[in-house]
Amino acid sequence: MKAIGVTRDGDEPELLEIERPEPADGEALVRTLRVGVDGTDHEVIAGAHGGYPEGEDYMILGHEAVGVVADPNGTGLEEGQVVVPTVRRKPDGETNEYFRRGEPDMAPDGEYFERGIVGAHGYMAEYFTSPADYLVPISEDLAEYGLFVEPISITEKANEHAFATREPFEWRPETACVLGNGSLGLLTLWMLGQQFDRTYCVGRRDRPDPTIDVIEELGATYVDSRQTSVDEIPEAHEAIDYMYEATGFAPHAIETVHALAPNGVGALLGIPEPWDFEVDGGSLHNELVLHNKCLVGTVNSHVKHFEYAIDTLEDMPEWLLEDLITTVAEPENVTPAFVDDDDQIKAVVEFDTL
Ligand code: NAP
Ligand code: BGC
Ligand code: ZN
Repeated sequence: MKAIGVTRDGDEPELLEIERPEPADGEALVRTLRVGVDGTDHEVIAGAHGGYPEGEDYMILGHEAVGVVADPNGTGLEEGQVVVPTVRRKPDGETNEYFRRGEPDMAPDGEYFERGIVGAHGYMAEYFTSPADYLVPISEDLAEYGLFVEPISITEKANEHAFATREPFEWRPETACVLGNGSLGLLTLWMLGQQFDRTYCVGRRDRPDPTIDVIEELGATYVDSRQTSVDEIPEAHEAIDYMYEATGFAPHAIETVHALAPNGVGALLGIPEPWDFEVDGGSLHNELVLHNKCLVGTVNSHVKHFEYAIDTLEDMPEWLLEDLITTVAEPENVTPAFVDDDDQIKAVVEFDTL
């Protein structure tokens, strides 16, 4: 079967011809429909994040997938059912408390694999297998956009964790700001627009730009970080109750604290490489304490967040989903899916249709 992967010798994704996997006990075989590409895939391809499956000289890419059950293999799933796979898996032959509790997203580094990212093949192939417990059913009507369930689930978890920190008191937030105009940032901007009175999105682009068009179509205010740094947002606009960082630009983690309104919370999602820069640690410490501010780091998601994400996807306007998908590539000509220029928002590799 066809698969798209990276090899230890190569530096770009390539078309590989490999054997179709056989489902083990408890696993189903899934025929892949579509797989999305995100910033993490680019980090994996660049060798900045993740790692190859042990003993393999290639890794199949892709962790944002939607497919159809081809062989339920006695798992209780139905042939023809549309499903979305979660990302984390137990390291081979092991289990641990996080997986037993159904919270693999809380497992520390080294206690999980991530399909298509770290230690395990991804979903960018004509078929993949997965334990049935990690295949979340979605309706056929959503199949075309099912690749968005995984990234939306990331924000479902981030919001759940961030908002839980504000539960002990009467928090009446009005403003939210997303740092980053990539696909994760724009999906999140729509989600926060449903809950907050005023939303902002920070990028570093000139107009005309397709992401600024989406930001403004969503009724949010575009902030150019080259003109207004994140810590200047309160002065230039207003203080922000909820900051959501999706740039991977490490100074934003620190600047987020200064952009927050008293009692606000910031969620950090980016995954930067080591980065030295100067920080006024006293002011940072003081701001967090005297204004009851909170910063939450958050990664991955589990089945419950996928279920929330499916409901969210159902409510998203079709024009947004259409505008976000800027490339649909075939496996035989996958290069356009890995172009990362200003016209690209969400690239998709399509293996099949329903
Ligand atoms: P992406 O497409 O690379 O988006 C990042 C965006 O941030 C880009 O549009 C980039 O703008 C913008 N940006 C970077 N530095 C900036 C700056 N200084 N000022 C303003 N904008 C800036 O990635 P993504 O897929 O949306 O994901 C966003 C981040 O979240 C990535 O770091 C990814 O690894 C991470 N992530 C984490 C999780 C998790 O579970 N924690 C899940 C998914 C993704 P330009 O394009 O103009 O450069
Ligand atoms: C994926 C998550 C994963 C994270 C860290 C993200 O792009 O969507 O599922 O946990 O990268 O590898
Ligand atoms: Zn991702």
